[in-house]
Amino acid sequence: MDHVLVTGAGGFIGGHLVRRLRDEGVGHIRAVDCKPKEEWHQVFDDVENLHANLELIDACRDACDGVDTVFNLAADMGGMGFIENNKALCMLSVLISTHTLLAARDEGVERFFYASSACVYAAGKQSSPTVEPLAEADAYPAMPEDGYGWEKLFAERMCRHFAEDFGVQTRVARYHNVYGPVGTWDGGREKAPAAICRKVATAALTGDHRIEIWGDGQQTRSFTYIDDCLEGTLRLTASDVGDPLNVGSDQLVTVNQLVDIVESIAGITLDRTYKLDAPQGVRGRNSDNTRIRAELGWAPSISLEDGLAATYAWVHDQVAARLAEA
Ligand code: NAD
Repeated sequence: MDHVLVTGAGGFIGGHLVRRLRDEGVGHIRAVDCKPKEEWHQVFDDVENLHANLELIDACRDACDGVDTVFNLAADMGGMGFIENNKALCMLSVLISTHTLLAARDEGVERFFYASSACVYAAGKQSSPTVEPLAEADAYPAMPEDGYGWEKLFAERMCRHFAEDFGVQTRVARYHNVYGPVGTWDGGREKAPAAICRKVATAALTGDHRIEIWGDGQQTRSFTYIDDCLEGTLRLTASDVGDPLNVGSDQLVTVNQLVDIVESIAGITLDRTYKLDAPQGVRGRNSDNTRIRAELGWAPSISLEDGLAATYAWVHDQVAARLAEA
């Protein structure tokens, strides 16, 4: 791995991945995103930064030119509030997924990593908060998250068939709720951990100790800290595992427990109200890490308490700066 392309490099995970690849001493990194550079979460001047729309095949060919490894993270996505209300936009990411694969095949790319999601898992297996953790086989029979999950599952299958039919070495991770500093924390695309950190930080800074929680707070999830996500991504890409693999924490919490942890980090207690008609997604979801342990001898292990402490500190600074501007 010496000439690497990271798509979606202006986004949350992509920005962190570029940083990590630099730290690992990767010789040449090309970072591509369709957002103007001023809006990228992280920009590194010692890598090649390109502004391009990877829905277009020609842009994908330029991006893959001379590259041995592709990390395809570009997608039009966000938290539940975004994906439940923008299903067509989410499915249009199929243009990115298929065109980057085609370009990778034609440009002779050796390894192609695709960022899939726990949203591919069948809805019927996630209807109770006390869910059985999801093992990789639970994606079938298919009934993924409407819109976003269907596109991810389709792109997973494209990866599989590009490997079988064209010999592209594809690697697919199913990420479970990745969070951490330097991510989206407001504006409508943020996910639950960042949104809760923002709400708690705002309460701590303004003294208005009320918090609105989406749903009844009893829905369960596991949340994966960004460093575990990156470690899993790199280990999987270097491995010979061609089938999709969970890359997710298996520390299951309710949303109420998530709020408890952030409150204790902030040292405050808030008055909770519950917005029962807000988008919530499935009732419960956890990652079964049996296969990743067996295949990679590793699994995510950073605790939610540690990950949220770092995330809260960063979000708190963003909120404080915003309030100071107002
Ligand atoms: P993000 O939204 O922060 O980053 C995605 C980036 O892709 C954005 O910067 C966006 O501008 C870029 N992009 C969108 N359309 C593009 C296009 N046509 N051409 C070029 N760039 C384009 O999201 P993220 O959280 O960093 O997620 C990265 C990947 O991981 C995505 O594929 C996402 O679906 C997947 N994923 C993320 C999570 C999570 O919890 N963050 C969970 C499961 C899967």
